[in-house]
Amino acid sequence: MSEAADQGSPTRHPKPNPDRRPMQVLVLGGTTESSALVALLARETDLSVTLSLAGRTAAPRPGPVPMRVGGFGGVEGLARWLAGNGIEAVIDATHPFAARISANAAAACGAGGVPLIAVRRPAWERQSGDAWIEVENVPACLDALGPESRTVFLTIGRQELSAFARAPQHAYVVRTIEPVGEALPVPNLVTVSARGPFTLEDEVRFMREARIEVLVTKNSGGAATYPKIEAARRLGLPVVIVDRPALPDVPAVTDAAGALRWLKTELVRRGFT
Ligand code: NAP
Repeated sequence: MSEAADQGSPTRHPKPNPDRRPMQVLVLGGTTESSALVALLARETDLSVTLSLAGRTAAPRPGPVPMRVGGFGGVEGLARWLAGNGIEAVIDATHPFAARISANAAAACGAGGVPLIAVRRPAWERQSGDAWIEVENVPACLDALGPESRTVFLTIGRQELSAFARAPQHAYVVRTIEPVGEALPVPNLVTVSARGPFTLEDEVRFMREARIEVLVTKNSGGAATYPKIEAARRLGLPVVIVDRPALPDVPAVTDAAGALRWLKTELVRRGFT
C-alpha cells in the first residue's frame, strides 16, 4: 500500500461540469429492476432520464423520472425517437422474455452509434429436488402437460395465455398482475390478480389450497417470484418451465447498480464530467 493511501488520501470524485447539460438517458423498462434503476438514476444530477414502458399495465405508478408509454414503431421508430430526443445512452432493463424490444434496441443503437447496456438477471438454475420439464416456448407447454386432466398453476403473464385454450381438459389457476379478461376461454378457470414479491409460506399455502398438480412458468429469474419454484420443490410438484428466448449479444450487467456503474464510466469517457 502506498504512503498516501496509508494516510487516508481522499478519493477523487469527478465534479459535474457546470457548462454541460446532463447526459440524456433512455431506460427501457417494465420490470422490478427498471423501477430500482430509475430510483437510483433520478438522484444523479448529471443524468436526465426518461423511462419507457410498453403500456401493458393499465395504470403504471408514477415514478421519479419522466415516463413515456407505448411502442416506438419498430427499429426505425426507435432510431428516430433516439435521434429526435438527443439520447446519448440506452439501458435495456426489459424482461428477459421481451426479446423483440431488446433486439430493436440493439439494432437502433447500433445504427445510431448510441451506447447500450442490458440489465439481465441471471436465469434460475435447477436445484436438487426440482422436477423441471424445460420447454422451448409457451406452446410447447401443452405437450409437457399431456392429455390427462390436471390442475395447472399458470404464471406466464397474460399475453400468451390463449395458447392453453387448446387444452381445455385441464383446470387452470391463472395468476397475473393485470386481470385476464377473456384471454383464456376454458371451462375450468380460476383467476387471481396479484403482484409479487410472494413469500415461500404464502406460495406453499396457496398451491396446497388450490390443489395445484403442476406449475407452469417462464424462467424469468430474480428473487421476487422465485418462491413459487421453491414451493413446488417443497410440495414435490413438477414444473413446466419455459427457457429464455435468444437475446441480442450486447454488453450486459445483472442489476441496477451495475448499470449505474456503466453510466458513470460513460459520463467520464464522453467528457460529461
Ligand atoms: P416484446 O415482445 O419484446 O415487445 C413487443 C413490442 O412492444 C416491441 O416491439 C415494442 O413496440 C413494444 N415495447 C416493449 N417494451 C417496450 C418498452 N419498454 N417501451 C416501449 N415499447 C416497448 O415485449 P413484451 O413481451 O410484449 O413485453 C412488453 C413489456 O412488458 C416489456 O417492457 C417487458 O419488460 C414487460 N414484461 C414482459 C414480460 C414477458 O414475459 N414478456 C414479463 C414482465 C414484464 P415497437 O416495436 O412498436 O417499439
